[in-house]
Amino acid sequence: MGAMLELHNFQYSYGNIKVVKGIDLYVNEGEMVTLIGANGAGKTTTLRTISGLTEARGVEGEIIFNGNRIEGMKGSRIARMGLVQVLEGRHIFSKLTVEENLLNGAYTRRDTKGIEADLQKIYKRFPRLLERKQQMGGTLSGGEQQMLAIGRALIANPRMILLDEPSLGLAPLIVAEIFEAIREINREGTTVLFVEQNSKIALTTAQRGYVLQTGHMILTDTCESLLHNEDVRKAYLGEE
Ligand code: ATP
Repeated sequence: MGAMLELHNFQYSYGNIKVVKGIDLYVNEGEMVTLIGANGAGKTTTLRTISGLTEARGVEGEIIFNGNRIEGMKGSRIARMGLVQVLEGRHIFSKLTVEENLLNGAYTRRDTKGIEADLQKIYKRFPRLLERKQQMGGTLSGGEQQMLAIGRALIANPRMILLDEPSLGLAPLIVAEIFEAIREINREGTTVLFVEQNSKIALTTAQRGYVLQTGHMILTDTCESLLHNEDVRKAYLGEE
């Protein structure tokens, strides 16, 4: 058995412009891995391509999930296989209630009882969503929207989740709360890959990390080692 997720010589181009230039990456079952890098490095493109959210014609190389080639597949099919991306908080449905938004994430499932049980689990993890279950999605705070986005991915009962900058636009206290929730979700068995521009929180949360620079993977190691790496400290942690 290989890793749960593997990228081999993965490349992505928008038209003639190649923005990811042949990278290798793997995530083992049960792991929490982060992909860091500066603005425009290609992190979002990589994540969205894994989830099937970019155009298939831009993809080269292999993406393997649980032994199956998935590059170029439609996102809904990939989600049904158990690999689900947490959509950005601002992409939740503003005119649906919190509960309707959550149930909408269960579109890949038919087991009503299982869905109800998972809904209660999500309310237990995020009591603020329970308190606000009849409130419109659009009226939630940024942090609550991020919780709802995570809940919406979890209700699909995924084996692995992908998150694109969970800290974006949130106050430090809320960021800590969101990352604590992600850590717990991982502890309970869901494999996690997340992209983050906040390298400090990324490297103190995940177990292993990859550093992407203008489409090339320049470094990978345990987060512990990356935190002590002088180049990483200078370029990504803002230290002299
Ligand atoms: P950020 O954190 O700023 O989003 P990133 O590392 O996630 O950075 P990407 O968003 O993947 O980087 O962008 C990588 C490169 O691809 C950038 O140069 C960007 O301008 C370009 N790019 C992204 N989306 C498109 C698109 N739809 N069409 C053309 N070019 C794009």
